[in-house]
Amino acid sequence: KVRVRYAPSPTGFLHIGNARTAMFNYLFAKHYGGDFVLRIEDTDIERNVEGGEESQLHYLNWLGIDPDESPQKPGACGPYRQMERLDLYRAIVDEMLEKGYAYKCFCTAEELAEVKAIQEAQGQAPMYNRKCTHLSAEEIAEKEAAGMPYVIRVKVPEGKTYTFDDMIRGTISFESKDIGDWVIVKSNGIPTYNFAVVVDDHLMNITHVFRGEEHISNTPKQLMIYDLMGWEPPKYGHMTLIVNENKKKLSKRDHSIMQYISQYDESGYLPEAMFNFMALLGWSPEGEEEIFSKEELIAQFSEHRLSKAPSVFDVNKLKWVNAQYIHKMDSDAFYAHALPYLKAAIENPDIDLKALCAIIQPRIETFGEIKDAVDFFNALPSYDNALYTHKKMKTNAEIALASLKLVVPVLEKQEEWSNEALYETLCAIAKEHALKNGQVLWPVRTALSGKERTAGGATEIAFLLGKSETLKRLQQGIA
Ligand code: GLU
Repeated sequence: KVRVRYAPSPTGFLHIGNARTAMFNYLFAKHYGGDFVLRIEDTDIERNVEGGEESQLHYLNWLGIDPDESPQKPGACGPYRQMERLDLYRAIVDEMLEKGYAYKCFCTAEELAEVKAIQEAQGQAPMYNRKCTHLSAEEIAEKEAAGMPYVIRVKVPEGKTYTFDDMIRGTISFESKDIGDWVIVKSNGIPTYNFAVVVDDHLMNITHVFRGEEHISNTPKQLMIYDLMGWEPPKYGHMTLIVNENKKKLSKRDHSIMQYISQYDESGYLPEAMFNFMALLGWSPEGEEEIFSKEELIAQFSEHRLSKAPSVFDVNKLKWVNAQYIHKMDSDAFYAHALPYLKAAIENPDIDLKALCAIIQPRIETFGEIKDAVDFFNALPSYDNALYTHKKMKTNAEIALASLKLVVPVLEKQEEWSNEALYETLCAIAKEHALKNGQVLWPVRTALSGKERTAGGATEIAFLLGKSETLKRLQQGIA
């Protein structure tokens, strides 16, 4: 049975790169009817952050990625946090020490630095000099009794080639001579990532691993443990980087893109849209279609269509995808989703929020845009006369003033205050005075909103504002 895992370190919040890793593992597992396991890799204890695990799980869940097994939903292969699995690692380490696959190393940081400096001065790649492989059993016992700290290193086999058939990149090989005896257990007794990950993937029966390309160079170390222990390794697929629009690798300080999933939630993106968009970051479906539900993505997913080239995070495309989802929401769902944003944005209690929703739904791309789109409903805008000038509408301050003077007395007498009736009235005024519709509608809309662009036309806005507020604002436009 296909079993994959997503193994976040709770050293931060859910990043778009990690979320994409989780997503491709999830799509792969679900496509083949397999399990998606969530394992917390918390052995880097100084770097763990408070709330990191909860936040990771919360936003995976928000995206619609539900683990089959996790710390919260233990299955047969627990525990699901590495710091709760120390006994399991210890048993394997003991076996490796006993078989001579690993050894204790008492070298101090100063000694190691010295060796490294000499090697570098000679133009060699720094590598542990194996000093501690020569210690006798007595010497080791003595040092331990004296309380000297030590790490445990794997004794890298000589003359070995580690080859794997990467599901995305094809065959990749490393030579054991290029790998120094690396640490599997740190001096605090906690295993290192490269060791723990192998023990876990083995004991959790993981069959396939999709992860970031930064882990390619870790793979030979991991294969070495599988080989020494006589275990069968999973299949690996190393995904390409996500880059910004300038094709640059995302750094923590890159503010051209919001890098945490939480920020997309806060900015009014829909989880379904995020899922859809991110699935297209480094994977492509067969046809031209770009809008897919989670179920469609699961059905269509194929590891053979994962890209080898870096994937550009195109914010405008994300907005477009999000807009597709917003526009097709049914009006009640839209209203329910928009309400908190509207309540936060609109202080004017007379505005019919449901009617406002009908106007903004087809026009926004994210819920976060609501605030700026509707703020003018709160108060009379401070008006800039330059807004009256619009070339295409053939209007300027003079024409606008004349139009508003025509409009106000007519609207004072207007009885039916609906969008349609108001539109008819304004167009009738234009016709009567040989003006273009725009020469009336543009001044009215800008006088009511104080904005060049608004969600909603002149009469939609007038309808929502109500008669007295509309007249008040138009009079101010004349003054
Ligand atoms: N905890 C590792 C990370 O966050 C997982 C690496 C792996 O998938 O093997 O990068």
